[in-house]
Amino acid sequence: MSKLTKTIEPKILIPEVKIKARVEEMGQEITNDYMGREITAICVLKGSFIFYSDILRKIDLPVSCEFLGVSSYGDKKVSSGEVKVTLDINDPLEGKHVIIFEDIVDSGLTLAYIINMIRSRRPASLRVCSLLMKPEKMRIDVQVDYVGFKIGSEFVVGYGLDDAGKFRGLPYVGYIEQGH
Ligand code: 5GP
Repeated sequence: MSKLTKTIEPKILIPEVKIKARVEEMGQEITNDYMGREITAICVLKGSFIFYSDILRKIDLPVSCEFLGVSSYGDKKVSSGEVKVTLDINDPLEGKHVIIFEDIVDSGLTLAYIINMIRSRRPASLRVCSLLMKPEKMRIDVQVDYVGFKIGSEFVVGYGLDDAGKFRGLPYVGYIEQGH
């Protein structure tokens, strides 16, 4: 049993090796798509920090790093649709090729909010890259240009994703079995 999880050990949904391989593929895809340009990569905190640091090292382009803190759930598991900006980006984004890196798109409400906010700063281009996506739970039409894995509607943890602050350090994406 991992020392991180103490009593509850999540079940593995996406093992570490699969994440590694897919992150490498996505990094190569972004490298090919943006060849010859510099990108501004926005890490959406907190959940994306592990995905972000891994994929950045697979992108062979000049990259400027920005961090955006948002909180949409508190400790609840259903999106409120209300997004609180906990850390804003200070540098101008006007004229930049911006990619937003998300951990997971569930209802899409958080992402829609972030896209509107970034668009108002007039970047030259804007795309979204998300490690995970739950197509069955989407409540709004938002485009995600790079998707790591499409999953079902289960609540997942690990690889940066938490459950009330726990499990972020797990190397895999897992879920907690009912009854815990
Ligand atoms: P949305 O607004 O798309 O419903 O939710 C987006 C945010 O909710 C994500 O950035 C993430 O912080 C959180 N979230 C959505 N689904 C999950 C999940 O299955 N597990 C965890 N840990 N967080 C989730």
